[in-house]
Amino acid sequence: MPKSAAAFEHAKTVTPGGVNSPVRAFLAVGGTPRFIQQAKGPYLTDVDGNRYVDLVSSWGPMLLGHAHPEVLAAVADAAQHGTSFGAPTQAEVDLAEAIIDRTPIDQVRLVNSGTEATLSAIRLARGFTGRDKIIKFVGCYHGHVDSLLAAAGSGVATLGIPGTPGVTAATTADTIVLPYNDRAAVRAAFAEYGDQVACLITEAAPGNMGVIEPGVEDGVGFNRFLADLCHQHGALFISDEVMTGFRVSRSGQYGLDGVPGDLMTFGKVMGGGFPAAAFGGRADIMAQLAPVGSVYQAGTLSGNPVATAAGLATLRLATDEVYETVDKNSEQLRSEVHDALSTAGVPHVINHAGNLFSVFFVADGVDSVTDYAGASAQHTAAYTGFFHSMLEQGVYLPPSAFEGWFLSAAHDSEAMDRIVAALPQAARAAAQN
Ligand code: PLP
Repeated sequence: MPKSAAAFEHAKTVTPGGVNSPVRAFLAVGGTPRFIQQAKGPYLTDVDGNRYVDLVSSWGPMLLGHAHPEVLAAVADAAQHGTSFGAPTQAEVDLAEAIIDRTPIDQVRLVNSGTEATLSAIRLARGFTGRDKIIKFVGCYHGHVDSLLAAAGSGVATLGIPGTPGVTAATTADTIVLPYNDRAAVRAAFAEYGDQVACLITEAAPGNMGVIEPGVEDGVGFNRFLADLCHQHGALFISDEVMTGFRVSRSGQYGLDGVPGDLMTFGKVMGGGFPAAAFGGRADIMAQLAPVGSVYQAGTLSGNPVATAAGLATLRLATDEVYETVDKNSEQLRSEVHDALSTAGVPHVINHAGNLFSVFFVADGVDSVTDYAGASAQHTAAYTGFFHSMLEQGVYLPPSAFEGWFLSAAHDSEAMDRIVAALPQAARAAAQN
């Protein structure tokens, strides 16, 4: 039995499903998750000694590639000086400034995960506006926040229902869940509940149902439309850049479409592979947070010195050149994937938000995917065939058809060549499934 399989069997006896986050269990694609022993640059090595070109990048954080020597040095140096103080440090201020420098926000509060960032931003929006209701989109994921694990009610603008057991109906009753890119639905929700809406939260460019591009109508992008409508109704616009922030450009999706959130959430890249995240926004809103204001929010390990050092080093190293490399790799890969799938006769749509992209294995004749309904209509069995063929050939893709592909600046020509060489066979496997 391969060591990964044995490790997985044992893991299942001590941890539900053997994993600490569901997607890692490979349920969507079947087979055995690879237990990773180490990672360097663009490569992962599993406990059986198999080496893979990594296209998951820890679901986003590893923009510079794994175990970047300067990030490791910053981490080691910080750890030497103590790993947690529960008191302020200069490095936290430096990281706050690095984030503010790249984004339109005035102030930032550091937290430990993207989930904490979005739940804190929503609490703050409710405290600031004195309103209860929030709007989110189907297929946008903002972490496992109770009020955001809501499914759409029966009508377009009706209130949400629990999206998972354990979330109460009362918790989701104030959540309105709408289809992404559907302006009529957003207008209808604001028409009905406008004066009760504290905030609308959206992924700045959705990446958690596969990548969905914010649509443009009459020259107006979806984010601009949402921000304007929020402001007309006295609601806050929360732009969740946990996935896109500091990845799709130096300034995230904001750097691509220029639409600021009144509040914005960050994570992944800004933690450099450690648990660090943040939310921030306009000074008058942030002033409502304790200890200045009365909206409570706190964290024992918030601004942890080791995580802060990793994040700071990562942002310092994420130069224009890094983004140029990742953008170029992404463009090349999108084109190679398109060619391979076309040659094998596999219908597909490739969406991208800057360098973040995903491939939808659609029905013949479908030429766009713009929301969750479109994303979930894809032929996931084709992805399963594609995924396992790539894995056998040494390329580690996201183990789900509903995820983006994450490149890094460490993907050099050797790594890119390995991916490209694996595509024709994987495309044929997709065609057979
Ligand atoms: N928001 C977005 C857009 C995300 O993609 C994620 C995680 O994938 C989160 C929030 C939650 O972040 P975390 O997993 O760090 O709690």
